Amino acid sequence: MSLARTALLKISDNQWLRENGTRLPFVRRAVSTFMPGESFDDMLVAAKATAAEGIGSVFTRLGENVKDLAEAEAVARHYVEVIDRIKAQGLQCEPSIKLTQLGLDINRDLAYGHLRALAASAQAAGSYLWVDMEQSSYVDVTLDLTRRLKQEFPAVGVCLQAYLFRTRQDLEDVTSRGIGVRLVKGAYNEPPNIAFPKKSDVDANYLALAQLMLSAGPRAAGARAVFGTHDLDLITAIRNHANSVGLKAADYEFHMLYGIQKAAQLRLAREGAAVRVLIAYGEYWFPWYMRRLAERPANVWFVVKSLFG
Ligand SMILES: Cc1cc2nc3c(=O)[nH]c(=O)nc-3n(C[C@H](O)[C@H](O)[C@H](O)COP(=O)(O)OP(=O)(O)OC[C@H]3O[C@@H](n4cnc5c(N)ncnc54)[C@H](O)[C@@H]3O)c2cc1C
Repeated sequence: MSLARTALLKISDNQWLRENGTRLPFVRRAVSTFMPGESFDDMLVAAKATAAEGIGSVFTRLGENVKDLAEAEAVARHYVEVIDRIKAQGLQCEPSIKLTQLGLDINRDLAYGHLRALAASAQAAGSYLWVDMEQSSYVDVTLDLTRRLKQEFPAVGVCLQAYLFRTRQDLEDVTSRGIGVRLVKGAYNEPPNIAFPKKSDVDANYLALAQLMLSAGPRAAGARAVFGTHDLDLITAIRNHANSVGLKAADYEFHMLYGIQKAAQLRLAREGAAVRVLIAYGEYWFPWYMRRLAERPANVWFVVKSLFG
């Protein structure tokens, strides 16, 4: 892992900066590359614009490690309310949530109660519910709660991270239950005893796991196959593999983040691929934004430029 990536991921965990970093005007200017604005309405405008370009969307209200019961409840209420608003707009825009934003650090049952309420609301709206994956200490509980949810709600998927050694086993388990998978490389700072330290190994594992997701077992179980990546070489390799095993473009999807590889998003959509963009909003964006900088430390240049207006 590069020093710059490690440093930015450490900054993302700094409590003082998490609370105060968003007030720095030049950081606020720089983050606009990756999020259309802080409000749900800003997200909605962006989702409508991408829909007009033939690209679906996924939305998330930024926040994590909520330590206050009332705040966790307010987050759950917010999601239920906006899922209804999205339905009223007729938009293909699916929620993606972090369990620690629903109060997982305070009480597991409470977080599950909120998750269940969101799944019920998504189901009533004819939508799918995505569960994000956070640091490795949350993987077991995230998978347990997702498996429990799936017993009641069919349209549920979870994010899995290709940098973790354990992911092949997790992927086999969740896909056998028909749980959708959004495969990503992984955005956190993980130690070498549980995660591949070398990027080339993460990339190779990603492709091997992608091929597994497109194989007969997961497909027969009805597990939705989503590739959350901006890596154009990997995307080409996945499409070539899918073609070689006789799959259609509609059998799998690519999800990217708002503001990243926009030209590739449009090209893929034009070529008939199923593409969605994940649009984030909310006031608590500092740790999320630091992870975006860590993915491409050259992005720090945007921050430096915005310092000078
Ligand atoms: C839809 C979606 C959902 C995600 N959900 C989660 C999650 O729940 N948990 C989790 O741990 N991670 C999540 N991630 C983040 C993911 O783990 C990676 O950190 C991130 O996607 C970068 O990896 P990459 O696959 O794009 O490949 P990389 O090899 O990092 O990037 C490939 C190329 O994409 C471009 N690129 C990538 N990132 C950036 C960036 N920030 N700014 C500018 N260009 C960039 C660059 O051109 C780069 O060369 C998600 C990502 C996506 C797309």
